[in-house]
Amino acid sequence: MNAAALPVLMYHHVTPNAGLVTVSPATFRAQMAWLARHGYRGITCRDLEKFLDGEPLPKKSVLITFDDGYLDNYVYAHPVLQKLGLHGVIFLVTGWIGESQPRRHAAMGGDLPDCPNHRDATAYIGSGQADRAMLRWSEVAAMQAAGTFEFHSHTHTHTRWDKTIADPAARRTALAADLAESRATLARHTGESPHLCWPQGYFDDDYKRVAGEAGFRYLYTVHKGINTPATAADDINRIVVKDRVGAWFASRMFLYRQPTIGGLYVRLRGD
Ligand SMILES: [Zn+2]
Repeated sequence: MNAAALPVLMYHHVTPNAGLVTVSPATFRAQMAWLARHGYRGITCRDLEKFLDGEPLPKKSVLITFDDGYLDNYVYAHPVLQKLGLHGVIFLVTGWIGESQPRRHAAMGGDLPDCPNHRDATAYIGSGQADRAMLRWSEVAAMQAAGTFEFHSHTHTHTRWDKTIADPAARRTALAADLAESRATLARHTGESPHLCWPQGYFDDDYKRVAGEAGFRYLYTVHKGINTPATAADDINRIVVKDRVGAWFASRMFLYRQPTIGGLYVRLRGD
């Protein structure tokens, strides 16, 4: 049986420090264990490209995505994916990723680095201490080598240019430079990628054009919707994953694989 629709999950933080856009390590473990137990495969972005080109994907496929590139993805999510043989994607804000040696992750035991909640992480980034909240390139390399994660762009600076520059031409130029820098940085560290996730989900037709010119063909949004082979590559829908397990998670995985009743559900309820 082939997939009629592809659920794309969206995470940010996996940390015991509760806050916005966060699931606890226990919730993440339970959600991933549920996927593994029910025979789901964590697909690659290359598989998604093929799905949108009309090639068959196994029925129980899921794309597991993370935004920004937080340290907690390495400390708490990476060991879970490794243990369960699942695969995910991290969209990196390439300008926030640090140098220096890898830190400890949960499967290593011992003293783990503190993984701040979203508010504290945002404050660290704003005060020039991004390394306290974000991944390092050495950790990115370790995850890529382990096959737990692949890496794509979430821009270089995570700037909302629509809010900072009023002049459309100047805004386009700034966005183009941001995207070019991110693409070049990724090419140096992890490889070429045509996959881009918009900061805070914001984009317009101008943005899409600039992204296309920068070489990004697959654009990830925060739109709610069902992804089918008819979905536009530059408007990929994602599911906001809540810090909930059991029936909530199982029902989302069911609904977002059903183009008809899932589509109806999204229109009526939309979460
Ligand atoms: Zn983001």
